Amino acid sequence: MEEIKFYKGENIPLELHKVRVVQKLNLVPIERRLKALEEGGYNTFRLTTNDVFLDMLTDSGTNAMSDNQLAAMMQADDAYAGSQSFIRLQKAVEDVLGKKYFLPVHQGRAAENILSNAYIRKGSLIPMNYHFTTTMAHITQYGGKIAELLYDEGYVIDSDHPFKGNMNIEKLEDTIKTHGAKNIPFIRMEASTNLIGGQPFSIKNLRDVRAIADKYNIRVVLDASLLGENAYLVHLREDEFKESSLGDIIKTMTDLADIVYFSARKLSSSRGGGICTNDRDIYQELEALIPLFEGFLTYGGISVREIESMAVGLYETLDETMIRQSPDFIAYLVNSLDAYGISTVKPAGVLGAHVNAMEICDHIPQKEYPAGALAAALYLISGVRGMERGTLSNQRDEYGNETLADMELVRLAVPRRVFTLSQIKYVADRMAWLYDNRKLIGGLRFVYEPPVLRFFMGGLEPVSDWPQKLIAKFKEDFGESL
Ligand SMILES: *Cc1c(COP(=O)(O)O)cnc(C)c1O
Repeated sequence: MEEIKFYKGENIPLELHKVRVVQKLNLVPIERRLKALEEGGYNTFRLTTNDVFLDMLTDSGTNAMSDNQLAAMMQADDAYAGSQSFIRLQKAVEDVLGKKYFLPVHQGRAAENILSNAYIRKGSLIPMNYHFTTTMAHITQYGGKIAELLYDEGYVIDSDHPFKGNMNIEKLEDTIKTHGAKNIPFIRMEASTNLIGGQPFSIKNLRDVRAIADKYNIRVVLDASLLGENAYLVHLREDEFKESSLGDIIKTMTDLADIVYFSARKLSSSRGGGICTNDRDIYQELEALIPLFEGFLTYGGISVREIESMAVGLYETLDETMIRQSPDFIAYLVNSLDAYGISTVKPAGVLGAHVNAMEICDHIPQKEYPAGALAAALYLISGVRGMERGTLSNQRDEYGNETLADMELVRLAVPRRVFTLSQIKYVADRMAWLYDNRKLIGGLRFVYEPPVLRFFMGGLEPVSDWPQKLIAKFKEDFGESL
């Protein structure tokens, strides 16, 4: 795919789609935004969309659907068993992911529940490039532990390493030797490693993982929620695949895994999720769990309409103009922030720009959640809702102590084909203002801390009157402007 060059001025990522349905947005006054934060316990998950201007919380279930997806939803075949919609989805999974057995589940974490239920026992260890919140919660829930074996480079915020999501192969082999292959039901690789800034792995690395897995007779599980974007970055950054189509790259990756699972809220821009494999034994092991936790095998807790949109969305994953839109906008945002001196995860990854709160809020101790505070402050001064990805998103250890995160990030998600470039420019502008006034931001503390996945519904409060000080400075600079 060629980049479109501009005759004069900057090269900007040009939208190769047009807007046909719109939704009105609200930019409520800063006083209302303060109230909304107070009502929502300074937790951006608890804001309601009426108070949010640009919703950059997540790319999960928020990607814009295509006309063809919406059209397919109208032809859904509503049947408890044997629905034609399911047969179309099965075919899409086989065509795009190259796996003939498919089990539908209601979203990505449901796939994790099924896999954990089937394979994790007390004492199990799951080596992985990096964890995802829901993955870790399910593995630990069933008595297992995780071993994160990311490349050292993956922890370096500002880097030019093209594949920061790679697994460290020496550490993988050491881990298997020390822990014993029999306690390792599978090795998990996550495409476009979410929590370290949407960073891809290379196919060379996945091949190396496969070789170790074969040597010790361990299965490879691929979390394919962000597979399309990982494939796009392989195409851009891995020489062997410069001329390959996205379809070929995707199949090369899925061929290297015994089990592929995904959140369709990301992959395919729809809803739902699935698990697929070419191994009949694996399929039969997992099959029995679907009616128990999800629904009958031809709907898995997903509506038939969503099944239709998932099938079409899977095929659209092969369209480079679709899959590159979000990473290209993210690169634009990251470059704008970088030009202003604002530290972000680099190189620009997928799913969102990841702002480095550890540096921007280096005056806030990690126990006061600098990334949570920065996310709250950004919402307050702009109406932009990002997500904390740092200590607040971690779970406490078995003794109840905080586990300080490796990185304190605020993720500004850029769902596919949702925002315009002027909106992205607004985000960069308000981040610049906040950066210049960063010392006014203070920490947060819990007033209500749920025991599991606390970041979703937890309630916090500021440790001082810093929000009022930030508002005063905002008014000084912007007057009565929103
Ligand atoms: C979102 C996500 C999940 C969980 O999927 P849900 O549909 O939100 O349950 C799992 N793994 C990765 C890498 C994800 O990005």
